[in-house]
Formats: sequence, C-alpha cells, structure tokens
Amino acid sequence: GEVGVGNADAAGSRIMVFVRLRPMSKKEKDAGSRSCVKIVNKKDVYLTEFASETDYLRLKRVRGRHFCFDSSFPDTTTQAEVYGTTTSDLVEGVLQGRNGTVFCYGATGAGKTYTMLGTMESPGVMVLAIKDLFTKVRQRSHDGNHSIQLSYLEVYNETVRDLLSPGRPLLLREDKQGTVAAGLTHYRAYSTDEVMKLLQQGNQNRTTEPTRVNETSSRSHAILQVIVEYRSIDGGSIVTRVGKLSLIDLAGSERALATDQRTQRSIEGANINRSLLALSSCINALVEGKKHIPYRNSKLTQLLKDSLGGSCNTVMIANISPSNLSFGETQNTLHWADRAK
Ligand code: ADP
Ligand code: MG
Repeated sequence: GEVGVGNADAAGSRIMVFVRLRPMSKKEKDAGSRSCVKIVNKKDVYLTEFASETDYLRLKRVRGRHFCFDSSFPDTTTQAEVYGTTTSDLVEGVLQGRNGTVFCYGATGAGKTYTMLGTMESPGVMVLAIKDLFTKVRQRSHDGNHSIQLSYLEVYNETVRDLLSPGRPLLLREDKQGTVAAGLTHYRAYSTDEVMKLLQQGNQNRTTEPTRVNETSSRSHAILQVIVEYRSIDGGSIVTRVGKLSLIDLAGSERALATDQRTQRSIEGANINRSLLALSSCINALVEGKKHIPYRNSKLTQLLKDSLGGSCNTVMIANISPSNLSFGETQNTLHWADRAK
C-alpha cells in the first residue's frame, strides 16, 4: 500500500487570518459602552478610541488604527458564512490527505466558543465542518471507503485531558504519525446531531474555576481533531490517505493578572501563557520561513506538530468585541493577528 500525503508546497507557510466582530452585548450596552470598531469592505478593520464624550459626538478621532485581513466579518455575519469563508477549503484539503488547523484567538467573552462550537440553533465551525465532511464523503462513497473519527481534548495548566472520556491526564508520546495522546478516545461519528451533542457534553467537561463553577476556565484550550481515512483498491493495491483537521478554541488571550506569584492562580496563568506563547513563537517562525519551529515548548504545540506548517493549511480567526470598554484587548488581538499574516 501507499500512504498519500498532500504535495508539499515549496514556499513558506501562509496563514490565512480573519477577524470576526461580535454584536454588542446587553451588558455592554447597559454599561453605556460605544462601538470602537468599524469593518469596511469585508476586509478593513478600523479601531478608534475617543478621548471623551465630546470628541465622540464631534466624531473626532483621537487614536485609531487600520488593519487589513484576508476577510473581516461584521457583527451580522452568519455562522455559515464564517464557516464557508474560513474552513470549507480546509475540509476539502483534508479529504485529499492534507492536514488543516483552525484557531479562534481572542480575549474571554470575544466570541471564540460561539464561533467554534456555537449553539443548537446556530452551530459553529466545528459542527458545520463535520456536517460538510459527512456530505462530501457520502457524495464520494462510490470510489472508496472513508471513515471519520473524532477526538476532543483539553490543554489546561499544561495538562492534557480527554473531553469525551474525562479521567486521568493523558501522556503525550511521539510516533510516526506525529504526537499522540496515549489512551485518547477516537469516536466514530455518523450523524451531525450526534456530534453536536457530543461536543456540547465535551465542552461541559472543560475545566472550570473553583470560584465560577458554571463557567469554562478562560485558561482552557479545547482541541477537536477530526481524522478522515480513505481506503480504496487501485489495480490490486490498496491506497490509503489520511487527513486531519484540528479545530481549536484557544484560552483567553488577555494577560493573566500577576497579583501573587505564589498562588495557584498565577501558576495557571503562567502555564496558559506558555501554550499561547509557544503557539505565537511557532506561528512567527513559520511566517518568517524559519527552519526550526519550536513545537516542543508546550503541550498545545506538541499536539499540533503535524498540523502546523509544511503542507498544512492554517487559519486564524481573531474574535473581537465592538465595545470601547474592551479597546485594549481588541487592540492586542488585532496586533497579534496582524503579525500572523
Ligand atoms: P469566548 O469563548 O471568547 O469567551 P463566547 O463565545 O462565550 O466568548 O461569547 C461571549 C458571549 O457572546 C456569549 O453569550 C455568546 O453567545 C455571545 N456571542 C459571541 N459571538 C456572537 C455572535 N457572533 N453573535 C451572537 N452572539 C455572540
Ligand atoms: Mg469560550
């Protein structure tokens, strides 16, 4: 048999970078906040800060910046549009044996989980990608066999856990396929409804803070990996093709409050920064065309070793709030996204 992998592109890695603006929340409105973000022509993002109410009324810009991305989504953009523009090409690639990765990056509350998981009424990228895979595989069932397997895991405090079968932390080990989490559940998926329920349950298994039992910790990274295996017989020999799609709801990008160095809280903060920092370093190294990519610096980047760079497709969705109360975080997110281009 032959193991087919996507044709490696000679050039350095290109990361597609998108921005998604969420609607102003009731809480932000009630707090009297104004919008400080404007999206024009589905590409350009203008970030503006007004010094005072008077300046705002006179529309005098005090500080502002312009950013341009592959696409920028205004707050009216549907889940289907976000999926279609950011991820549907990667799904096609995975069917050809090319690994792909989509990240949602941004501060807590900016819309990462909404974009990735969504709700029952408005399913997000994870669910729409799997739905699309089912459809495409069904259309191609005449020319071979496809199997679709899911695993859903969490990196929290540099510990890897199985979200579909919670229990002891998983150890990572290297094998020919890349990094594998020993004992991770691979769930064979058959229908979209089943997948949505599975992912929602998985999300409930994400680590919560002792003080906020019902809220997912902002330090938790959730990683959905979808492995598509294709097998067919071609002139008497078996052809196998494997593609992996990784969809990642990253931890909040806001700085962990450096209050007391000795508390558990700041240790956790430091570790989350480790995975986010390591991801930033890998992305910067890839974008700059460096030979050495520092995958080994965190659990998150170890897990993504075979899914970032090389012939892989990588997509970054930066989530932002429109409110001027989040100006600083929005500015940080846009700068970060700008550097990933
Ligand atoms: P994060 O995961 O980045 O912390 P969430 O995805 O939980 O943020 O979003 C915060 C809140 O805003 C949630 O109540 C979510 O439903 C809502 N929200 C986020 N993005 C959108 C959107 N595009 N449209 C409508 N509501 C949204
Ligand atoms: Mg979230």
